Amino acid sequence: MKQLTLVLVLLMSSARAGDARAIEALYSDAAARIIEAAMTNEGAWRKLAHLCDRIGHRLSGSPQLEQAIEWARREMEKDGLDNVRALPVEVPHWVRGEESGRIVTPVERPLHLLGLGGTISTPPEGLRAPVVVVRSFDELDELGRERVEGRVVVFNVPFEGYGPTVRYRTEGAIRSAALGAVGTLVRSVTPVSLQTPHTGAMRYDSRFQRLPAAAVTIEDAELLQRLYDSGDTVEVDLLLSGRTLPPAQSANVVGEIVGAELPDEIVLLGGHIDSWDVGQGAHDNGAGVVVSMEAARLLIELGLRPRRTLRIVLFTNEENGLAGSRAYRQWVGDRIHLHAAAVEIDAGAERPIGFGLGEKPGDPEATRRGLERAEAIGRLLDPIGADLIRRGGGGADISTLMRDGVPGLGLLTVGERYFHWHHSSADTLDKVDPGDLRSALAAAAVMAYVLADMPGRLFD
Ligand SMILES: [Zn+2]
Repeated sequence: MKQLTLVLVLLMSSARAGDARAIEALYSDAAARIIEAAMTNEGAWRKLAHLCDRIGHRLSGSPQLEQAIEWARREMEKDGLDNVRALPVEVPHWVRGEESGRIVTPVERPLHLLGLGGTISTPPEGLRAPVVVVRSFDELDELGRERVEGRVVVFNVPFEGYGPTVRYRTEGAIRSAALGAVGTLVRSVTPVSLQTPHTGAMRYDSRFQRLPAAAVTIEDAELLQRLYDSGDTVEVDLLLSGRTLPPAQSANVVGEIVGAELPDEIVLLGGHIDSWDVGQGAHDNGAGVVVSMEAARLLIELGLRPRRTLRIVLFTNEENGLAGSRAYRQWVGDRIHLHAAAVEIDAGAERPIGFGLGEKPGDPEATRRGLERAEAIGRLLDPIGADLIRRGGGGADISTLMRDGVPGLGLLTVGERYFHWHHSSADTLDKVDPGDLRSALAAAAVMAYVLADMPGRLFD
């Protein structure tokens, strides 16, 4: 029995090795053609310049988002994609109003702040209160209700990677309200600041009071900390007028290259088209939008029609709700099993290094097979240095598909400066390197094409 198992394991692993070799042999020419075309491509940059400079930032509910959606739909038609359509999605509609803040005691100083997405407003005349400054939730809880009640909590938490630090932005208002605070200021979730505040999503909890919440710059958070540590009472004035309006109509944009042999099977390539309401949403996520759109155009130009259908999906409302992702999943319904893979581009346009492949829930063996095959595709991207395949990944918009077993991949980049610009007025086109954008295009187009054309699926 043991021997039989051993033989089976050997056979299976050599079949997999054969698979991997077959992928490289089958697609090295196509990959070389795609990379060559992508590395001289002007279309992705032209599209990104239009989206950034002519349309601008595009928060859910804004006219600019709908303008971007209409523009993308028309571009896809012009580029020759099949079945181009906008699938209606209802999205949350929060608008930023007038905002200001200043330290009033023990010195007078302006605060550089941005209301967090979804925050309630302060009273129209503003809010004046003393602050407590903490470096963690533990420090806050140690202060207790007695020292927090009636105050504005300032979370001065240094950046230790996005995941660990962003929870102060998303949960800060809840944790502060639980102790009776009247407002919350969070240090912007970034490792570097030139006095630039970064916004982003936040949450409330129906068990507690909703508090006005804003992000301040690193510079201002550190100033508040120093004043507070001196032992003086530190008071701030805050005025926020953000408010939530009734839900708005938006849409996911979909366009396809219908598969030559298995048209019902889908490989999805896409990213979110919405952004925060500051800057231009160039890295987050204009880059992912234009890379996805242009990858399809490039394959059409090269005459590379894959066996499965390649479906480009530009999701609405990733930033503050994920309504686009949920609506797409609902639209797909039972046809979920026809999704062979999903690739999300939402990591900015710094130099790409490869892809992360999300695990198949509860099936480590399938995950391993998927990784081996994805690594074979990765090797085709060696000429542009994007050959890394990492376990774990995907993306927020495709998470609703991955939960049901669809192999999900997310583009990875060097990630050196993304969070310097993320969700701030500095996320503009000038931060995008045209060469890096071309590399992202090459990586996305090769990955999507091979997934859509290869024999079998990643987790088979
Ligand atoms: Zn994003």
